[in-house]
Amino acid sequence: MMLKISEIFYSIQGEGRQMGRPSVFVRVGMCNLTCKGFSESVQYEGKKIIGCDSIYAANKAFSKEWIVFEDSKKLISEIEQKGNGNFDIVLTGGEPSLYFGNKVLLETLKYFIKRHHHIYVESNGSVFFDFNEILKSLHFTLGVKLSNTLDLKEKRINIKAIQNILDHAKSVYFKFVLNQEMCKDGSGIAEINEILAQVSGSYEVYLMPQGSDIETLNRNIKFLLPLCLENNFYLSDRLHIRIWGNKRGV
Ligand code: SF4
Repeated sequence: MMLKISEIFYSIQGEGRQMGRPSVFVRVGMCNLTCKGFSESVQYEGKKIIGCDSIYAANKAFSKEWIVFEDSKKLISEIEQKGNGNFDIVLTGGEPSLYFGNKVLLETLKYFIKRHHHIYVESNGSVFFDFNEILKSLHFTLGVKLSNTLDLKEKRINIKAIQNILDHAKSVYFKFVLNQEMCKDGSGIAEINEILAQVSGSYEVYLMPQGSDIETLNRNIKFLLPLCLENNFYLSDRLHIRIWGNKRGV
């Protein structure tokens, strides 16, 4: 598959273990899930499109905006120009693992691994792929999707794919997005524990509030804190939303 990139930008990582670190974000176009339950809606070419806050990268309706990279030199140069010296790289999307057979992406990753950049993949963990030596050097953030996304369980949960990543990646942490209803009725923790009970390996678990504006984040995050303390999970904010709201490319 041709490598399609929705956007490349330099910012700070706003979520999870690397929160606050200067990073070049490489956001691929295309996802295998829709996450309509996150209820972000955009009017585009006369149609209302519903999905996540990265809908412009996840939904192929936006594919005309994506840039096709056929040459790793061009992609490498663009990343180097955006970043400032010793930056991390966050490969996000969309779903990056859809491109793990793409030569341009693999050559680009190899170039930056050789230069000791830390590379973090933000994946929904539902796609099985074979690891090669390049992919084994990557850190994975597994944002496994729960029932609040409204995607079918069979599509969003792939235990074999998650275990494969746990077995081969340089490091792994899970990042689960919860809303207050799932915190209050216990369904969020039940779904998370059902997944974790089926996998083994070394990992951390972060809970993160659903929401793409400060009011919703504030409402949801206070329900996460007791769950983190009870279950020995870590709490993640969404710093970029506090700073910029739901703006693209920051
Ligand atoms: S898996 Fe991620 S990128 Fe894909 S639709 Fe869901 S939230 Fe968006």
